[in-house]
Parts: sequence; structure tokens; C-alpha cells
Amino acid sequence: MNEVTPSPADIAKRPIVVPPHPEWPILSPDEKENLKARIKAQLKAQNAVLVAHYYTDGDLQELAEETGGCVADSLEMARFGSVQEAKTLVVCGVRFMGETAKILNPEKRVLMPDLNATCSLDEGCPADEFRAFCDHHPDHTVVVYANTSAEVKARADWVVTSGIALPIITHLAEQGEQIIWAPDKHLGHYVQRLTGAEMLFWQGSCVVHEEFKSVALERVRRLHPDAAVLVHPESPAAIVDQADVVGSTTALINAVTSMDNKEFIVATDGGIFHKMKQLAPGKNLIEAPTQGEGATCQSCAHCPWMGMNALQNLAEVLETGANQIEIEPGIAEKAVLPIHRMLDFAKQHNIGMKNRGNA
Ligand code: SF4
Repeated sequence: MNEVTPSPADIAKRPIVVPPHPEWPILSPDEKENLKARIKAQLKAQNAVLVAHYYTDGDLQELAEETGGCVADSLEMARFGSVQEAKTLVVCGVRFMGETAKILNPEKRVLMPDLNATCSLDEGCPADEFRAFCDHHPDHTVVVYANTSAEVKARADWVVTSGIALPIITHLAEQGEQIIWAPDKHLGHYVQRLTGAEMLFWQGSCVVHEEFKSVALERVRRLHPDAAVLVHPESPAAIVDQADVVGSTTALINAVTSMDNKEFIVATDGGIFHKMKQLAPGKNLIEAPTQGEGATCQSCAHCPWMGMNALQNLAEVLETGANQIEIEPGIAEKAVLPIHRMLDFAKQHNIGMKNRGNA
């Protein structure tokens, strides 16, 4: 890279502004029912379907399922949208999920409760600087995680989710390809450790998973010696090393239902507990420790951007039509190619994307 182009490490040192977790007013049961009724009426009237991520509020997850929508990881959210007849997709999650839904479904209207709901991985990978980094290494194959902007995807050869990253990087390594990996350094290093691939890393991280503390986790494990430790691979290596299961959101949910353990220590966003409790009501779920509120914790295992989705602003966007996702056609045309490459790979290798989702 030339002198004026900052390195990925320099870019990673720039602070990312993490908003406080939104404090939504507590709703009375009547207020909640009233909002749900308004949302249901609008979904029906507008031929719209609700797709929600596992990290969003439990009320939104339940509403999505009650109204024929889905609760899933981001890729499955987009795939679900593609097979719906609905003309409008309402994406409760963060912005790159809405963008991916739009890229895969350009003919549909895609709405989001709050367009400011972003992601530290996306924020930490500005498209112009990422393009400069890639241009500096033209002999590398560019692999980006789904948690990136449409512009960054448009510069990539492959998009991957956490569940399919391993087989795709293994495949590329077998072809002798050198890889640029962005933006999540922890997931990248995890995949490199398992595959031995030659990789250059962007230095981004997730503010939620970065917060898990390894020494405190060891203490919690001693207190709960029979608990299985479930870890999302966006977590630092010292956390991943203590895991019984490392996997995507869907894989961690599957672990809770399929493993015999009665207790689980879970290192990923706390929003996932809603679905885990629904599917495995008898199991004891323990949040992996963070620094804790009042200390230096920025997220305390609850993504502030995911928290920007609520019944209140969902009702509002449906009633006003605000917060539509728009993507420049030239960008969308390029960004769809690496996403389709991943989907084709999954199909060819019989990899069930439904069970191999991303953040
Ligand atoms: S949990 Fe982390 S990776 Fe997921 S949206 Fe929030 S900041 Fe991004």
C-alpha cells in the first residue's frame, strides 16, 4: 500500500461510535396488543412479510412467526424473502441485512424500522479504503463476510456467512489461492487456524463478541462444570478456545436442542436466548461474562443496533412507508455476484444454508 493509504490495522484503531442501547418505553399489555394489531393490519393490507433476526427483541420474533414471516440468520432472512410472493419485505435487523435482502430481491420494496441500525463490522470497513487495500493485492481472492455494505460486497469475489466460511476457504486454499479476508479478524483467524489458508486480514471486530472475557469465562465454567460452552466465532480466540461448540447463530440454537447437557454458557448476543428458550424450555442458559455495565462494556452482549428495532418504529414505517432500502443499481449488480457464488457453492456441496447461518 502507498504512504497515503491507511492499513487495515490503522483503520481498526479508529474509534467506532457505539450508541447506547436504546431504552424503549415499557408498554402496557394493551399498548403492546394495539401496536401488534396495527402492524398485522398493515402487513396484510400491503402484502408485506416480516423477517427478523435472532438478535432482535422477542416481541418482534414472535410477531414475525405469527404473521407468516420468519426468524433466522441474515442469509436465511434474505433467502426467505426471495421465495415469498409478498411485494414488501420488512427487515428487523441491521442495515446490511436489509441491503442483502434488496440485492437478492431488487423488485421488492424493503423497509427497515431504523436505517441507523448498523454494525461495527460494517462501520469498520469503509468501501473506498477496502477497495484500495484489495487493489494493492490484485493477486488475492477477496472474501468478505456478510456483515458488510453493498459497496464492499461489490468489490468481493465471494461473500460468506460464518457457517459456510470454513468449506469455502478450504476450497479456495485447495486451489492454491491467496485470500483477502474482511472484515472480522476473529472469524478470519479462526478459519485460518482450521484450514491453514494463506490469508491477509482486515482488522474489524464485532463490539458484542469482542466483549466476552476469557478469565471470567473460566470462572463461570468452574461454577457450572457440566455446562456446554457455545461460542460464535466472531468472539476472540481465548473465548473460542474454551468452546464445546463453535458455530453460527443457527448452529448454536441447534446445539441447545440436540445436546444432552442441561446447562449452556452462551457467548453471542443475548437476543438469541429468546429462540433457545422457546425450543428448549427446560435448559438453563447462562450468558457468557462481559466486563459488565458500569465498567468499560460497550454492548454487554446486547447489540445496540439490533436494539433499535421495536414494535413502535416497526408500526411507524409500515404506516408511513419510510426507511426504504435503496441500492445504486451498478453496485447491486456487482454485489449480487459473490452472494450467488456462495449460494451456488452451498447447493453444489449440499451445504444446508438454513443450518449454517451468519451473525
Ligand atoms: S452483534 Fe456484532 S456483528 Fe451482529 S450486528 Fe451487532 S455489531 Fe454487528
